[in-house]
Amino acid sequence: MTDNHLMWENLGMDVKTHDILCEVLPQAFGDVYLTQENRPNGMDYFNMVVGDIHGLRPAELIKLQEEEGKKVVGTFCIHVPDEVVFAAGGIATGLCSGSQFWVPGGEKVLPTATCPLIKASLGAHFDKTCPFFRICDLFVGETTCDGKKKAWEILSEDAEMYIMDIPQMKRPQDFKKWEEEIRNYITKIEEITGNKVTEESLKEAIVISNNKRKALQRLNNFRKLDNIPISGRDVLLIHQIAFYDDPTRFTEMVNKLCDELDKRKEEEVSVFEKGTKRILLTGTPLSIPNWKLHQIIENSGGAVICEEMCTGIRYCEALVDESGENIDEMVENLAERYLGHINCACFTPNKARIDDIIRLAKEYKADGVIDVNLKFCNIYDTEGYFVEKAMAEAGIPCIGIETDYTDEDAEQLKTRIGAFIEMLS
Ligand code: SF4
Ligand code: SF4
Repeated sequence: MTDNHLMWENLGMDVKTHDILCEVLPQAFGDVYLTQENRPNGMDYFNMVVGDIHGLRPAELIKLQEEEGKKVVGTFCIHVPDEVVFAAGGIATGLCSGSQFWVPGGEKVLPTATCPLIKASLGAHFDKTCPFFRICDLFVGETTCDGKKKAWEILSEDAEMYIMDIPQMKRPQDFKKWEEEIRNYITKIEEITGNKVTEESLKEAIVISNNKRKALQRLNNFRKLDNIPISGRDVLLIHQIAFYDDPTRFTEMVNKLCDELDKRKEEEVSVFEKGTKRILLTGTPLSIPNWKLHQIIENSGGAVICEEMCTGIRYCEALVDESGENIDEMVENLAERYLGHINCACFTPNKARIDDIIRLAKEYKADGVIDVNLKFCNIYDTEGYFVEKAMAEAGIPCIGIETDYTDEDAEQLKTRIGAFIEMLS
């Protein structure tokens, strides 16, 4: 029995079913990632992390729980501020799941007409096939969309959950309300960890998280170049790992990769052929290991140069103002960043997202935009109306696609995306 198997058994996982996932994931990763040519050497670290995704980091988390009494807090949305957990000496980890493997398990407790991200997350929990769900001391949900709201009720029957009530508008009173939610969250996290959030610890946590964002911004900036030194799928992978990894180590590894990309920039190295069409993706998140669209686009003569998504620019673009001197000011700054600068389709109106897509399309010199909707995500699907209208007005070619975690639509997507890229030529 391997060390990982022993760990999974001790976590009470369904090891036999989980073994099936362990068999297919390396194959999928190999097909999407290891077939690429001229990858930067700095990707080795991220390959290693994802290569043993259910082994390395879970083992590290368990060690920190056992030896240092740390608490692990699992979250499902980028509106939930990690800084609060870090400031209380806890560990924050993302739990959104991106594999079809977990969907049938989710469908046992949820309607089929629920988005795959929610179904996979609940499936991973109830099927006992994801170590991160087994390790967490607390799950934190939010009231962003109806599917999630009801899913949390089901999840909370089997686990300790805390829910943050996110406003759905961005008026002054909504910011006040979100500040209050963050204060309540601090109290809950202090209770769980047994540690106080202090001015010093919160300030430090804000800096740690901002440094991670700055490293990701630095990485994304390379995608604005004419010679793009890294593929879109590699950048997506890094964004996905950002949700799980130790933030300080992750920042260091991203910056190390960026140093290598600086050299590539000087030498005008590109991983794409000249004339490759530049595609901006917008829409619902692509949680790990959902690499389907990037693979299709980049195998069809396109380069993904930006993701206006929660697994992309939305996660890292805005920083938290670091000038707060006391807890009240810092909470205000957190609320400003986490409510004001994330343009999820759960908000009404959400014009800032449309403006962002146009701005990003210009900054990253996109030839075309693909608006991605996870099947049964009503809010992003509806907002697609404004995305397509605004792109038409701005003269930016755009198509909307709906997909899920299966491979059933892969051929159809290849045809549609291939034709779109062809049309851009
Ligand atoms: S799409 Fe909305 S609900 Fe989903 S992670 Fe992003 S902000 Fe949260
Ligand atoms: S993709 Fe849409 S439906 Fe699914 S969790 Fe996110 S906001 Fe909710």
